[in-house]
Amino acid sequence: MPETVVYATDLHGEIRSYEKLLEIGNGKNVRAVIIGGDVSPFLTVMGDMALYQREFYEYYMLPKLKEFKKKTGKDVFVMMGNDDLKINLEILKKGEKEGNFRLINQKAYKIGSKYVAGYSYVNETPFLIKDWEKSEENIRKDLDRLAKLSDPKKTMYVMHAPPLNTSLDVVYNRSHVGSSAIMKFILEKQPYLTLHGHIHESSQMSGNWKDVIGKTLSINPGKGSILVFDLNDLRTMELLVK
Ligand SMILES: [Zn+2]
Repeated sequence: MPETVVYATDLHGEIRSYEKLLEIGNGKNVRAVIIGGDVSPFLTVMGDMALYQREFYEYYMLPKLKEFKKKTGKDVFVMMGNDDLKINLEILKKGEKEGNFRLINQKAYKIGSKYVAGYSYVNETPFLIKDWEKSEENIRKDLDRLAKLSDPKKTMYVMHAPPLNTSLDVVYNRSHVGSSAIMKFILEKQPYLTLHGHIHESSQMSGNWKDVIGKTLSINPGKGSILVFDLNDLRTMELLVK
């Protein structure tokens, strides 16, 4: 029997994307739902973004995940991304304590015969929010630690930033902006699978939402698209493009 995993990233508080993801996540053979970074809405006009995001967590996301857990019993894994203000992490931690989902940044958990591990931090960007940015050197150190928590060859790494110089890190001006430390980590550890996000437009610019790095399959589905795959057979993977 397939053990299906459903992954989406960069939902940016879009209710329709959450509803669709959880509807697919309710499917018969689904084992787990993974929500990559940038979970909350971005405020583009002047205003209190921390409050805006907090209200999203308190009044939509946490009740929604609670309802999903109650209804389906399935596992949900979540992490913040560079646009989710860290000041609200405590709210997500409170939700995690209720047992409705697990926060995966810098942690590893078992799913069936595999593991899922998360990493929210991105390499430096030109954007204003710096809560989840680190130097390549510090990313490298963190990933070395993360690699010790599970066997990388059996682990799906959810890393918000994509690896440098791949199909997964191309911005509108066609330059590559991914992380060199993440690329190095993939080359050295050759994980089972890596799931990325952060660069919303990359698959449209490069024409590819997946890349092969040695023996590792690496994916950036793009903003809000939904990846569906069997944990034990990645060949059947499909992308439901938003
Ligand atoms: Zn994003």
